[in-house]
Amino acid sequence: METAFISLGSNLNHPIKQILEAYNQINELDNITVSKLSSLYKTKPVGPQNQNDFINAVATIKTKLTPIDLLYALQRIETKHKRKRSIKWGPRSLDLDILLFGKLTLNTRDLTIPHPELVKREFVLIPLLEVTNQDFTITKYGKISKYI
Ligand code: AMP
Repeated sequence: METAFISLGSNLNHPIKQILEAYNQINELDNITVSKLSSLYKTKPVGPQNQNDFINAVATIKTKLTPIDLLYALQRIETKHKRKRSIKWGPRSLDLDILLFGKLTLNTRDLTIPHPELVKREFVLIPLLEVTNQDFTITKYGKISKYI
């Protein structure tokens, strides 16, 4: 079993509902248990500003899946939420990212872990802090408290 952290974000089609549904869908997957869900945070969009605010959260999960199988499982949930991938940083009904996977570092075509934007994004750092603590170490980057 490995502990991993997933970020959840949405700014379309009832974002709070999207996030809570995604939480339930992740929890129902085989070989994954969600052990914590942060509060839901309302945040301003990164990139184009002519779109709705986002709802963001971070979940702590325990999983037996490999990182790539976890990514595929999350992508199947995104597809169910009819995510449109057309505009970079544009509106989305659901975005699920793998932030961290145990102490793993990985850089392949399909998957970079830790997520490369993690320490730059307050909308991820704040909920990650909530499900961890001030002394939590972000693999490759160091203490979370350095970034907040
Ligand atoms: P985005 O549109 O920002 O959600 O990016 C989706 C793409 O990022 C997918 O095609 C993934 O293969 C890739 N990707 C790379 N690293 C990660 C990660 N840690 N979590 C989720 N997607 C990732």
